[in-house]
Amino acid sequence: MNPFAYHTPETQEEALALLQQHGDDAKLMAGGTALVIMMKQRLVMPETLISLHRLRGLAEVREADGTVQLGALMTHRAAENAPLLRTRLPVLADTYRRVATVRIRNVATVGGALAHADPNQDPPVTLLALDARVQLASAGGSREVPLENFFTDYYETVVRPDELLTAVRVPIPAPYTGSVYVKFLPRTADDYATVGVAATVRLDPATGTCQDCRIALGSVGSTPLRAPQAEAVVRGQRLSPELLREAGAAAQQQTDPISDTRGSAEYKRAMAGVFVRRALEQAWQQALAASS
Ligand SMILES: Cc1cc2nc3c(=O)[nH]c(=O)nc-3n(C[C@H](O)[C@H](O)[C@H](O)COP(=O)(O)OP(=O)(O)OC[C@H]3O[C@@H](n4cnc5c(N)ncnc54)[C@H](O)[C@@H]3O)c2cc1C
Repeated sequence: MNPFAYHTPETQEEALALLQQHGDDAKLMAGGTALVIMMKQRLVMPETLISLHRLRGLAEVREADGTVQLGALMTHRAAENAPLLRTRLPVLADTYRRVATVRIRNVATVGGALAHADPNQDPPVTLLALDARVQLASAGGSREVPLENFFTDYYETVVRPDELLTAVRVPIPAPYTGSVYVKFLPRTADDYATVGVAATVRLDPATGTCQDCRIALGSVGSTPLRAPQAEAVVRGQRLSPELLREAGAAAQQQTDPISDTRGSAEYKRAMAGVFVRRALEQAWQQALAASS
């Protein structure tokens, strides 16, 4: 690890002032679960480390204007157990529970997981399917970015060096919506996904047809992906095995995985089709149960 100056700001304003002062030479540290490994491997060598652990008010979850807002410093463990999340967005609480081990989840944060932008992570996939928006603050003001436009490449996002991710805002799904996250883990239960798929299906309760659908995939591209062609296959239709197969095949076409220890690119692409089918069917059954 390279030598670095270490700051522990007490307020968001202090943290933003430090970011403005040090710019590209500084790195924020939330849980540190990814950053410390990258520093030990000398993949990042910041001159200044700004720890966020003393900041108050960024670890809360609250409901406002039809959304649930999760503070950036909320840990994965707190998110999986938050009563508000378990009631309003159970799929998201379940997704945080699928991450790694309790030891990691006790420390890794909601904001750190998004800013880290590893395409193999779980929460970004579900957040993308749920149409979440990310809030960013800098000394010059704040802005909100749809998660859809947030990730740009492997470990790259639109966050500027002077910005702090403060929260993520997630719309509460409309009635008669089913939402699931399925994680395909052929190795161990605490591994990163070989393929992760989140799907939401909103039904017309009168006809049982799909009014809206969102599908997102992880581990099969340089960023978490939406599958708009598969979504188009499903909208306006009724559930059938043929429809699921067609949607799975359409989603598969949109993937661009790499071969690694979790499987060859070909295998991951095939599994993406299988797990899109499964996720859609589960989400659909959930929506049907809600509308009966
Ligand atoms: C062994 C292991 C297994 C794991 N398995 C999984 C898994 O299966 N699924 C999964 O989803 N995750 C998994 N993770 C967690 C994941 O890979 C990241 O380590 C974690 O999400 C990072 O969160 P953090 O709060 O520790 O971020 P940090 O390590 O503190 O920071 C990560 C990056 O984000 C930046 N950053 C942090 N907070 C902010 C902020 N508020 N604003 C702007 N930038 C910020 C940092 O500067 C840094 O660049 C695993 C981690 C480990 C160590």
